[in-house]
Amino acid sequence: MNAAKVVVIEDEPDILELIEYNLRREGFEVVTAANGRAGLSVIGREKPDLVLLDLLLPGLDGLDVCRRLRAVESTRDLPVIMVTARGEESDVVLGLGVGADDYIHKPFSPRELIARVRAVLRRGPMRESDPDQRVVRGPLVVDPVRHRVAVDGRRLEFTPTEFRLVHFLASHPGRVFTRGQLLDRAIGDRAIVIDRNIDVHVRAVRKKLGSHRDLIETVRGIGYSFREDEGRDV
Ligand code: CA
Repeated sequence: MNAAKVVVIEDEPDILELIEYNLRREGFEVVTAANGRAGLSVIGREKPDLVLLDLLLPGLDGLDVCRRLRAVESTRDLPVIMVTARGEESDVVLGLGVGADDYIHKPFSPRELIARVRAVLRRGPMRESDPDQRVVRGPLVVDPVRHRVAVDGRRLEFTPTEFRLVHFLASHPGRVFTRGQLLDRAIGDRAIVIDRNIDVHVRAVRKKLGSHRDLIETVRGIGYSFREDEGRDV
């Protein structure tokens, strides 16, 4: 039923075996590689639907591999989940910064692994948010054409910066963005930003969302994410 193909790049044989076993059991096709260089050639040959990429690899590390994937047209949109050591939030920030779609900390449970893989496959490639696309997420409606935000049918007043931020986050539910990414991608150079501290804008947006403030989740040490109802926190 689920024939998605996953390339797993991992140098620790026990972890590689564990990941491979659990993915296969769930019906995924799995191809493995034990280092970055081998991983790149396997990806070129196998054209996978997703890559699970260990950060710490001999030779080319996970960041190098991810950068190279993003630099090439054929793999620019290939979903990548970075596998990092627990507690290394700075590694996650680096990983997301070079274009990883998501991350998972070691050690992880099989359930967590499968949920994360499914969530990333479901979300599909990262797209620029369509500047004219109306976004509806539960109680929240963001209408870029009329520049309006409503929650539970009630209209809210947002500054242009707050508006861009909520539109961007709501357009990519479940994805985690670093503060730097939000400044660059959500708010952007076009805007005159009075305060370049993202936390200030997030706080203002949450306050206006009132009882729905938890639609925007804080990912500790990393950044922010718009709540995704299925997938992320199973
Ligand atoms: Ca490793």
